[in-house]
Amino acid sequence: MAKTPYEIAVIPGDGIGPEVVDAALAVLEECERRYGIALACTPYDFSAELYRRTGRKITAADMDEIGERFDAVLFGAMGLPDVRGPEGLELGAQVEMRAHYGLFASLRPVRLFEGVEGPLTSRDVDMLVIRETSEGMFAGLGDAHEPSDETATDRMTITRATCEKLFDVAFSQARARRKRGTPGHVTLLHKSNALRSNVLMEKVFDEVAAANDDIGSAKHYIDVGSMYMVTDPARYDVIVTENIFGDITSEIAAGIAGGLGIAPSADVSLDHGVFQPSHGSAPDIAGQGVANPTAMILSAAMMLEWLGEQHADETATAVAQRIQSAVETMLAAGTTRPRDLGGEAGTREVADAVIDALA
Ligand code: ATP
Repeated sequence: MAKTPYEIAVIPGDGIGPEVVDAALAVLEECERRYGIALACTPYDFSAELYRRTGRKITAADMDEIGERFDAVLFGAMGLPDVRGPEGLELGAQVEMRAHYGLFASLRPVRLFEGVEGPLTSRDVDMLVIRETSEGMFAGLGDAHEPSDETATDRMTITRATCEKLFDVAFSQARARRKRGTPGHVTLLHKSNALRSNVLMEKVFDEVAAANDDIGSAKHYIDVGSMYMVTDPARYDVIVTENIFGDITSEIAAGIAGGLGIAPSADVSLDHGVFQPSHGSAPDIAGQGVANPTAMILSAAMMLEWLGEQHADETATAVAQRIQSAVETMLAAGTTRPRDLGGEAGTREVADAVIDALA
């Protein structure tokens, strides 16, 4: 059922996170004024910076509260290179939230928009990379381990249960995308010639593909499949892959579509969603007002799209489409070009241009 207002937890985080979140909130506020959608946004100050100052980080109790009270989480970026937890790993709530809410799929769509120059000769880049985010090469993050200067081990684990859910999402996403003209096709990128876990992943993929034979499917080894992303991007519609392969391939996808500044993402389970840009906190450009907020704005649109699906709310779906169209109009016009795309426009100017384009 459509509900209103949607309760949104907003976690701006570190570095450029707060800057791009402010820009996305400005776009959402304009949508509330124009299109009759209502969002009640509550900010949460979880960040690596907070951990540095106070030792406080997001806890299971915080995530329980957020999960129960809110319809979705809008997340900027978290982590700073010099703020590390006890195991020497960078601090960010993303991994904790993925585990806590069982967010098993990260959806990362990229498209080479008109007005954006990609690094390839082909302009036929329109793909959705689905990265598994609860197991795979990150499965052992919570494992007990003895710190050692001689040997360190990580663990790749793949389960049938997660593969089935993941591939169901991949095929239904391909079906949903097909409504706007994409071919309806899913490719598995894997390494079953060398990794036992990937033999199982491939087997389950074959089963789910057979049950969804209205959608085309293909499989490539991750190495050659990554090469095809650059040499022949048109062959891809939906790509689905395990955790670390997806981490890497989603950034290749972002790169061939114009960079991280325009690549959104959604981390979802069947009933929870965290929406954040594919980029990190970009400390090298933080605090200068120059970050491109497009990825964050498109992530906010993905949030509305997801709320629209979850609550059968056509208004939310329509507003998501309006934001996506406004971003396309802004980029195609070329008068307001963010710095990472070769222009001069700052974060707020880009947000204002998207707001103007909503008209
Ligand atoms: P993480 O591992 O947390 O995803 P990362 O190490 O991949 O982070 P990012 O923080 O994503 O690094 O930044 C990578 C590069 O991309 C940096 O040079 C950064 O300035 C640039 N970048 C990232 N996001 C943006 C943005 N929104 N606008 C402009 N440049 C960006």
